[in-house]
Amino acid sequence: MAFVITSPCKDEKAAECLTVCPVDCIAEGPDQFFIDPDICIDCGACKAVCPVDAIEEEYDLTPEQEVDLERAEAFFANQ
Ligand code: SF4
Repeated sequence: MAFVITSPCKDEKAAECLTVCPVDCIAEGPDQFFIDPDICIDCGACKAVCPVDAIEEEYDLTPEQEVDLERAEAFFANQ
């Protein structure tokens, strides 16, 4: 399981998450940040500091937010 950055991050990109991630698995995409689901250790530090509450645990995603996990997987697959 992993944490996932959802749509409130779009065009916000506050970046607090980048500074707290202990495994450096958050990267900047063109319109939002993404968490690499293969590296995330589920610590929750990013969720605690996100000012727009954009970060959810994978198992808490709504059906509409599943696309955000797919976008993250596609982003890192193309790195
Ligand atoms: Fe990084 Fe922890 Fe957030 Fe995963 S849950 S992205 S390891 S800060």
